Amino acid sequence: MLSHCENSECSRPSLQLGQGKLFMVETKYVATSEELATPPVSYARRRTRRVERYWLCDECARVSTLVHDQKHGVTMIALPQPPLR
Ligand SMILES: [Zn+2]
Repeated sequence: MLSHCENSECSRPSLQLGQGKLFMVETKYVATSEELATPPVSYARRRTRRVERYWLCDECARVSTLVHDQKHGVTMIALPQPPLR
């Protein structure tokens, strides 16, 4: 459930979804060893993918973005800023 900005230093509540930036990240479902031990029929019924949703408020989306990688999950990185004139 989306409730706050992904930036832990910001944590603005996402009360107004028209604002900020929504990120949809498709993550592969990782089966645990317990689940792998279940019969194939029930295993096949399980979802193998899921979509995680993350939200950045306007302020944070202006200066940063979210990236996803297999090892670290979703990480916030700074966007390159255009030089000030
Ligand atoms: Zn924020």
